[in-house]
Amino acid sequence: MHLSRYFLPVLRDTPKEAEIVSHQLMLRAAMIKQSAAGIYSWLPLGLRVLKKIEDIVREEQNRAGAIEILMPTIQSADLWRESGRYEAYGKEMLRIVDRHERDMLFGPTAEEVVTAIFRDSVRSYKDLPKNLYNIQWKFRDEIRPRFGVMRGREFLMKDAYSFDLTKEEARATYQRMFAAYLRTFARMGLKSVPMKAETGPIGGDLSHEFIILAETGESEVFLHKDLLNKTVPSADTDFFGDLSGIMDRWTSQYAATDEIHDAARFEKEVPEDLRVTARGIEVGHIFYFGTKYSEAMGAKVQGPDGQMVTPEMGSYGVGVSRLAGALVEASHDENGIIWPVPVAPFEVGLVNLRSGDAATDTACADLYEKLQSAGIEVLYDDRDERAGGKFSTMDLIGLPYQLIIGPKGVKNGEIEIKARAGGDRETLATEAGLNQVITAVQAQRVLV
Ligand code: ATP
Ligand code: MG
Repeated sequence: MHLSRYFLPVLRDTPKEAEIVSHQLMLRAAMIKQSAAGIYSWLPLGLRVLKKIEDIVREEQNRAGAIEILMPTIQSADLWRESGRYEAYGKEMLRIVDRHERDMLFGPTAEEVVTAIFRDSVRSYKDLPKNLYNIQWKFRDEIRPRFGVMRGREFLMKDAYSFDLTKEEARATYQRMFAAYLRTFARMGLKSVPMKAETGPIGGDLSHEFIILAETGESEVFLHKDLLNKTVPSADTDFFGDLSGIMDRWTSQYAATDEIHDAARFEKEVPEDLRVTARGIEVGHIFYFGTKYSEAMGAKVQGPDGQMVTPEMGSYGVGVSRLAGALVEASHDENGIIWPVPVAPFEVGLVNLRSGDAATDTACADLYEKLQSAGIEVLYDDRDERAGGKFSTMDLIGLPYQLIIGPKGVKNGEIEIKARAGGDRETLATEAGLNQVITAVQAQRVLV
C-alpha cells in the first residue's frame, strides 16, 4: 500500500478525552474514530488489526472443533422472555420497538438465539457434541463507556456455545476451549492468566476469566510467579484427547477479581518473592452452566436409550475489539505502538527519505515490489514530506520493521533497517538487508 493513496489521518496531539495510553494511541494512529459515546468507526489501519485478531481467534476456535455461524445483531425479545432474562438483564440491554410494535433488542450476547437454533434443528444424541460460534457485534449500554474500544457500548465479540450429552463431555469441551484460549492469546504475543471467576447472571458452576496483565487493567489479580513462565499448549496438542488437569496447572488459584480473592491463602501458600499482585484486562470469559438455557427453552435430544435428554451447555466469549486496545496497552513506548508481527496492520514500513529524487524513487519501487512478491505486507511512505514527520508517523503506527531509504544509501547500495521493538538500527547491503527483514517477519508470524 502506498501511503499517498491510503487513508491515515494521524493526529499530532493527544486527544484530551482519552485517559489511557491505548485509547490515546489508537486515536492518534488513526485506528479508530469515535462516532458516539462508546461507539467507534474502525479506520483502515485499525480494521486491519481487528481482522488479524479475528483470524487468529477463528483459527483456534476451528482447531478446537467449534463451527462458525453468523447470528443476527437484532434479536426478538420473545426469545429472552422464554429464558426469563428479558426483564432480568436490566439497562445494559438496548431495547428497540419495530414498526409493528414488536419488542426487539440489540443482542448483548446470544445464548437465547443459539439455543433456539439448536432446539429447532438437533434431535438426536448422535448429533452431539456441537459447539457453534460467531464473531459478531454486540451492544451493551454500559453506564460508563471508557478507555476507547476496551469498554465500548458496541463491541466485537467471539461467542461460542457448546452442547453436550453428559456433564463429563461438557467438561471436556470446556477444557478444550480453555486450551484454545491459552493458544489464542499467546499467538498475539500476549501473556494471559486464567482466573477462577464467578458465574454471575449467566449462571452455572464453572467459569474462568482470561486476564492480560497491564497497569491500566480494571481487575486486580494475584498469582504465583510460575504462571507467567509457562508455555502454552502447542498446535500439536491433541485438543480432542486428554486435557484433564490443564485447568489446575494453568489457573491462578488465589484470585480472580477482587471479590473472590483469598488473601490469607495467597500469603500462606506463596512465598513473598513469588507473589505477583498486578492489574489486568479481561479479554476472555468462559462458562459451563449446565442446562440453564436448554431447560428453560425446551431444547432436548433423544438419548441412546430413547429417553429425551436436556443437553449440557457452556458459553465462551473473547473480546475481539477489546483485544485491539489490550494489545496496545501491553506493547507501546513513548513514541507509539509496537505491534507484534501476527497482529501488525502491516509488517514492514518502507520509508522514502527523498520522494521525487529519481534514484531513490526507483530503489524504493524495486524494494516495494520485492517485499510484495515475498508476501510481506508493506506500507510504503512515498509522500512528499519531511523525513522527521515520516519517522514519527512510522513510530506512532508501530509497524514491526522499518526500511529506510535515502539518496546516500542508494548511491552506496545500502539500506537502513529499524526494528520498532528495541529500536535497533542497522545499515546493510540492500539485498542482504531485504532478506534479513523478510526472514525476520516470516519467523515471527506464528508465535506458538
Ligand atoms: P466485563 O466484566 O469487562 O464487563 P463481562 O464479564 O461483562 O466483561 P462477558 O459477558 O463475559 O463480559 O463477555 C465476553 C468478553 O467480551 C469479555 O471477556 C470482554 O473481553 C468482552 N467485553 C465485554 N464487555 C465489553 C465492552 N463493554 N467493551 C468491549 N469488550 C467487552
Ligand atoms: Mg460486562
